[in-house]
Amino acid sequence: MSKIRILSENVAVRIAAGEVIERPGSVVRELVDNSIDAGATRVAVRIERGGKSLIKVIDNGVGMSRDDLLLCTERHATSKIHDAEDLTAINSLGFRGEALASIAAVSRLSITTRQRDDLVGNRLIVFGGNIQKVEEVGTPEGTVVEVRDLFYNVPARKKFLRSPGVELNNVVDVFARLSLGFESIHFSLENEQKTILNLPPLPELIPRLAAILGRTTAEQMAFVSRNFPGTRVKAYLAPPDLARTRPDRLFVYVNRRNVRDKLVNKAVIEGYGGRLMKGVYPQAVVFIEIDAGLVDINVHPAKQEVRFQDPGALFKKIMQTVDEGLGNKIYSHAIAEQANDGGEISEPIQMNWGALATSTPAFISGSEAGVFKDHGPVQIFEEEVRVVGQLRNMYILCEGKDGLIIVDQHAAHERVLYESLMEGIRKGGLEIQRLLLPKTIELGIGEKRVLEEKGQTLADLGVEIEDFGGQAVLLRCVPSLLGNADWETLLPELVSALEQGRGERDVLMGEVASLMACHAAIRAGYPMSVEEMQTLLDQLSLASLPTNCPHGRPIFRKITYYELEKMFKRVV
Ligand code: ADP
Ligand code: MG
Repeated sequence: MSKIRILSENVAVRIAAGEVIERPGSVVRELVDNSIDAGATRVAVRIERGGKSLIKVIDNGVGMSRDDLLLCTERHATSKIHDAEDLTAINSLGFRGEALASIAAVSRLSITTRQRDDLVGNRLIVFGGNIQKVEEVGTPEGTVVEVRDLFYNVPARKKFLRSPGVELNNVVDVFARLSLGFESIHFSLENEQKTILNLPPLPELIPRLAAILGRTTAEQMAFVSRNFPGTRVKAYLAPPDLARTRPDRLFVYVNRRNVRDKLVNKAVIEGYGGRLMKGVYPQAVVFIEIDAGLVDINVHPAKQEVRFQDPGALFKKIMQTVDEGLGNKIYSHAIAEQANDGGEISEPIQMNWGALATSTPAFISGSEAGVFKDHGPVQIFEEEVRVVGQLRNMYILCEGKDGLIIVDQHAAHERVLYESLMEGIRKGGLEIQRLLLPKTIELGIGEKRVLEEKGQTLADLGVEIEDFGGQAVLLRCVPSLLGNADWETLLPELVSALEQGRGERDVLMGEVASLMACHAAIRAGYPMSVEEMQTLLDQLSLASLPTNCPHGRPIFRKITYYELEKMFKRVV
């Protein structure tokens, strides 16, 4: 007797439903997608118990005829594509004709709909995939879909639903993501008759971003838009300091569809580049508009992933756009703290690194440290900035146009050294200093072998080492910039960076250079004269990324005069 049996359509459809419909949030996504595809300008979602007992979606879209209504819960019933050819350029959110069939199979579903020119509407009721009733009803133009008791007939699935609170959070997330792609549609979401989000259409996206990401974040976002042939990239970028440990606030849209795409995420992170600490994700909303023929949406059951025809080229476009959008900004202390809404926060200062004072970089010479003299303004910001002193031998304090600017001296010098090293490597003109007394340095067993294998990177950076027998090496030459570094501790660290370093030569070079810069940079605790501080700021003004040290830590902070006035209760 044969063991294989073909599952009945009834069972098969419930299995298939599991691919598309996992939880209330997926129902919300599919139904709102349908409302958007139906050309609605108003979409209201009402749920109960986080969507576990009720999900109701009301739209004012084109509605369905009685015939279409009868067909719409069949599998592969869609009005959006006709043949395989259409799959190559999809312009709607839906196209597989699976969602309503799946939802119908695992819930008690009711769809009420009327087309504009019809006098009367129709209601279809389906329980667990079986049509119960079709009747004529009076109803406004558009469609109302009600989904009750999700998974009532699939206990195995129902068991995996979480508490109403957790499901609600997921619905809110899904809903918020969808709404950002369609700023001209009025969206609202209610749970247990309480409004959770009400997003009227506005010409600006910022208020909607504020409702979803919080006002402080939204108001600080930089906007950038760039056109490339066949592709447009638009992005709203939160300050790097507001980055999070998870990518939950990094929203990506491809032709308005919200997707989760590792490649795009990575390109955005690369665009933030050195402004971001390692291992964190920025808060950003990125819209990619691309010829429908250059992207395949038909790769994931819930249409959450896409495949690009030329991912490498797109990666670069996104990275460039993000980098350009962020520019060089000093952020207020309040932003770093992510002050809760209420306090006004002034705009970040746009630095104008073009206007510089040229001065001789005779930096770090034993000098009249700590003696304060006013040497006039330094022209590194958009306006002139005056060095007013040093705090705790750690921070350079400057008077700016709209606030007190605090500079971390170590981080600033690190950035300067790092860029000089990298520039020297690029141009091949790194200045080398021969040590008067070569240093003997003892290495560990493994370390010496690493040097033999990967020492070339160090040689390229001007570090000349000779074997000195046993575990010792003789250090003969170092880059002049790093003359002051403590090589006994630096060299073993460089060797271990080489050992762990993987990937491209440029990346490794960057890591080694940043380690060197860190060791050679002036420490916190080093007293600086006003000239030294000014010279450092001048040099920093020439850097390509003057806002962050090579590890991503900020170099500048600002306390605005407004913040100071609040502090002293001059304003309330
Ligand atoms: P798809 O969206 O992939 O076409 P669905 O199962 O989600 O598949 O929907 C099936 C069809 O039902 C759609 O193609 C559309 O014609 C119709 N439909 C569904 N929801 C609506 C709605 N809110 N307004 C108008 N028509 C709808
Ligand atoms: Mg659909």
